Amino acid sequence: RIILSGINRVYVHAYTKDDNLFEAMVSDTEEDELDIKEELAYSRALNKHIEVYVKEVPYMSNSVLGQIAGITSISRLTDIIALFLPTTFERKKEYIEEVSSTSRVKMILDDINRDIEVMKLEEEIEREVTKKMDESQKEYVLREKIKAIKEELGDINDKDTDIDLLRYEMCSSLSPEVGIIRNYIDWLINLPWDNFTKDETNLVKVKKYLDSTHFGLDKAKERIIEYLAVKQKTNNLKSPILCFVGPPGVGKTTLAKSIAKSIGRETTKISVGGINDEAEIVGHRRTYLGANPGLIIQGMKKAGTTNPVFIIDEIDKMTKDIKGDPASSLLEVLDPEQNNKFIDLFIEEEFDLSNVMFITTANYIEQIPNELRDRLEIIELYSYTEYEKLDIAKKHLIPKEITEHGLTSKNVRFTDDAILTIIRGYTKEAGVRELDRVIATVIRKIVKDIVMNNTKSNCIINNGNIKKYLGNKKYLDNNDKELLSAGVVNGLAYTPYGGDLLQVEVTYFSGTGNLVLTGSLGDVMKESATIALSYIKANAKTFKLDDKIFRENDFHIHVPEGAIPKEGPSAGVTLTTAILSSLLNKKVSSNVAMTGEVTLTGKVLPIGGLKEKSIAAFRSGIERVFIPKENEPDLEEIPKEIKNKIDFILVDDYIQIFKKVW
Ligand code: ADP
Repeated sequence: RIILSGINRVYVHAYTKDDNLFEAMVSDTEEDELDIKEELAYSRALNKHIEVYVKEVPYMSNSVLGQIAGITSISRLTDIIALFLPTTFERKKEYIEEVSSTSRVKMILDDINRDIEVMKLEEEIEREVTKKMDESQKEYVLREKIKAIKEELGDINDKDTDIDLLRYEMCSSLSPEVGIIRNYIDWLINLPWDNFTKDETNLVKVKKYLDSTHFGLDKAKERIIEYLAVKQKTNNLKSPILCFVGPPGVGKTTLAKSIAKSIGRETTKISVGGINDEAEIVGHRRTYLGANPGLIIQGMKKAGTTNPVFIIDEIDKMTKDIKGDPASSLLEVLDPEQNNKFIDLFIEEEFDLSNVMFITTANYIEQIPNELRDRLEIIELYSYTEYEKLDIAKKHLIPKEITEHGLTSKNVRFTDDAILTIIRGYTKEAGVRELDRVIATVIRKIVKDIVMNNTKSNCIINNGNIKKYLGNKKYLDNNDKELLSAGVVNGLAYTPYGGDLLQVEVTYFSGTGNLVLTGSLGDVMKESATIALSYIKANAKTFKLDDKIFRENDFHIHVPEGAIPKEGPSAGVTLTTAILSSLLNKKVSSNVAMTGEVTLTGKVLPIGGLKEKSIAAFRSGIERVFIPKENEPDLEEIPKEIKNKIDFILVDDYIQIFKKVW
């Protein structure tokens, strides 16, 4: 490190090098010629400016003042000041190179003044900034105070909510966050946190109301009254969750709504059919664009009270995939142990669902996810018989439609026969939804007539004029009790329409033992067909068949009405009988039907939907039905009028059918 000290300004003319030492040929520079007055004036000006400069600019050392005190030569003065000036190396070189001292004075004054100006500008900016900072600081403190006051008043006792609200208040109205927060606050405000309705406790009244809205359904109603009684007595939050199971249109949803009405609660309804994403139940986190709460919270908002009857439809139609398992989320919602602290991912606040009365509905018990099924109190609602439908039409549907169309019972009357004709010829269903619609169609036409002809009408709908209103029958009665062709046998199926009579046809022709199946058969049904054939082959002797027949022929099994997919595992006995009927060329009576699965050893296994199947059999004029022995307890559910007409034959081995069917 070396220190260089300048002695004088000189011009360098040439350099010479000698033993590692540079020498230079120089000549003196000429100083400005100044008189004393001028010199003094310059030095005073410099001194004054430097004093101001030192005061204003914090990074200018004030030791410069000591160094220049008493010096009057402006050449010296400028050199010393230049040394102290907080400026760049390049600028300092310019000072050295400037020979004229008066020019150096100007340079210094320029530099100093510019620096002071910049300094002032900086200060101004600084002041602006601090002013702004002060304001926001003040606002912040005020908001903190408001928050404290609100807390003190118990306005908002939840921290997270408070922070969100605070953020909302602080957000500029242009911020995209505002919309999101406002949506969130809207949800919070509109959720029923603490308003609830008082339950009607007089169960006699409740029962009366249920009877007034729904015909029959005695078991279901009784179970509901029991449920309400227990709930009242124990105030037990852990009461079971009801699940109404049955075919469409048998009154599951409307009964649930009636329950709500009878005890004075609000109703809210969601459907979880087809849902495969947990988020649909528990909501999306607010970080997602367009996030909203899940179906449960949406339902609660619609209900407007904390204790509505909450109907969850189609719990047997949820699916499980990579997006999660909605059934397990639903379980959390329904579980009384957990649902007082239900957390929707959007709301992020605990919401108490423990006062909600959940009623779920499903079409098939088997398809309800297992973990859910364990928690549900299943109440089955069955298909209606024709006579039950007749009563429902007379007591509920017709009066309802008449009033809804602005008529009175004096204007329209339906004879019982006409109603039965509608049920048999124009509808095919387990429940009464289609019946309701057809009745509405008839009444609508009557209203049209009354209005167009401007008459007072008292119209009687009977078998004679029903065609005028409804056109030709859509479904034909199946009442011819002849023998069916060989190879054709009546089976009974449980379909979405309730029960149905399903004929199985079998034929065979020369071939090599192949089996052909047609008629939209599901996998289970295909297996049943193979099992039936194997069972017959294995027991050829019992059935007095020659083995050759299986080797030298191909078999074709067909189940007509190909558009309806046939899934149910209950056609084994029908398939077996149809194959035997074909091979033995023995006709089966058309008033016989059968249902049941067969094992390879000929055992007959139990089936589901016996009530629906018997109703279908009854409707089709069947008089004898073979059913599995294990289904005997289910016979209790079968209406008397059906049992009076149909002879149920219980079997546990196929051979019993074989012995009795011909
Ligand atoms: P589900 O929910 O089982 O599909 P709904 O409850 O929607 O059936 O009922 C369909 C229609 O049938 C409704 O108009 C309902 O009032 C009527 N209904 C069903 N069962 C009865 C009944 N037992 N008494 C009176 N009306 C009924």
